[in-house]
Amino acid sequence: MPDYDIAIIGLGPAGSTLARLLNKRFKVIALDKKQSFGTEGFQKPCGGLLALDAQKAFIRFNLNLPKFILSDPQIFSVKTVDLESSIIRNYQRPYVNLNRHQFDLWLKTLIPGTVEVHHDTTCKKLEKTAQGYQVTFEENGEIKVITARYLIGADGANSLVRRTFYPDHEIRKYLAIQQWFQEDHATPFYSCIFDSSITPCYAWSISKDKSFIIGGAFEMKEANQKFEQLKHKLTRHQFKFGTLEKTEKCTVLCPSKFSDFICGDQNIFLIGEAAGFISASSLEGFSYSFDSAEILSGILNDNLNDPNKAYQKKTLKLRLKLWTKIIKANILTSPLLRKLIMMSRVSHVSISSGNE
Ligand SMILES: Cc1cc2nc3c(=O)[nH]c(=O)nc-3n(C[C@H](O)[C@H](O)[C@H](O)COP(=O)(O)OP(=O)(O)OC[C@H]3O[C@@H](n4cnc5c(N)ncnc54)[C@H](O)[C@@H]3O)c2cc1C
Repeated sequence: MPDYDIAIIGLGPAGSTLARLLNKRFKVIALDKKQSFGTEGFQKPCGGLLALDAQKAFIRFNLNLPKFILSDPQIFSVKTVDLESSIIRNYQRPYVNLNRHQFDLWLKTLIPGTVEVHHDTTCKKLEKTAQGYQVTFEENGEIKVITARYLIGADGANSLVRRTFYPDHEIRKYLAIQQWFQEDHATPFYSCIFDSSITPCYAWSISKDKSFIIGGAFEMKEANQKFEQLKHKLTRHQFKFGTLEKTEKCTVLCPSKFSDFICGDQNIFLIGEAAGFISASSLEGFSYSFDSAEILSGILNDNLNDPNKAYQKKTLKLRLKLWTKIIKANILTSPLLRKLIMMSRVSHVSISSGNE
């Protein structure tokens, strides 16, 4: 008999949600690189904007956001900058501005005590056994080994679960770079920046707690050089880069075809970004992490006969929605189509003169 029914690797939004929703009859172990509190250790680089679909998940979960995870200020529009055509438009967006690390830590506190959580722990190796899976992890400098019947890959873009069991499954990926500067703009703002000579995806800026974050997703090989070019071009559009506070880098997935999404098989389940569940057009991923975790919890709690088949079936709608985001991304990153959309002024909200 395996030691545990379920082993969850990674407690980001996807893993924490699954751990919270699983029936208490399961014996569950959950491993996560992040510490349980404070600002030391691993932190996921992120924009920390909670979009409408993610807010909808909180309604379903009957959960409210505590004040301490909110960032200042709350902003209601995104300045969209097309560096190729020099067109700028403002689009209304009802994002909630969050402190991403505090958000992650708070989600972990909602996991019931029946789940055995190991913080500050890194999963090192995964192997298939006759009755399930063997998980080798490092905690406090010690190597430990456990076995579990079901293995959940909730370990994000660079998922060890996906790389170990599906090594040939390549999903398009970029290097995300973010730099935090002291905020020097009179009125903080969000922006979304397009320039096909710099990135085939997009770049962004976010104001958060007196910091100005500039970030982008770049082709791996030229990422640093393209990021510098981006900042240089933006200074011509009144972007100000004050004192540098920190630089963050990580892989971000950007699915390019329907077959990029991968659900798992043989009692392995991938949820959240590990499964490629992230929007190709906005890189918004929270809602898909919550939705996939919720779907999987329902399947495991109901003890269905073929849970992998059920997960494949029940995530079809989510995967089709993500596929429409690939089409949207292809439109938005086409210089001509984007220029036509922006020139139409549809949904643009102009800033009254005197307030600019
Ligand atoms: C720069 C950037 C900005 C983004 N901005 C936004 C945004 O504003 N809004 C939005 O909705 N989405 C945003 N996203 C996407 C979003 O961050 C992800 O889609 C989301 O975090 C995915 O959640 P997850 O739980 O699947 O994975 P993650 O959040 O990546 O969580 C996985 C967790 O697994 C743990 N882990 C990984 N490997 C191991 C291991 N070997 N052993 C133990 N633990 C492990 C880590 O602690 C990690 O926190 C952004 C992404 C990037 C890169």
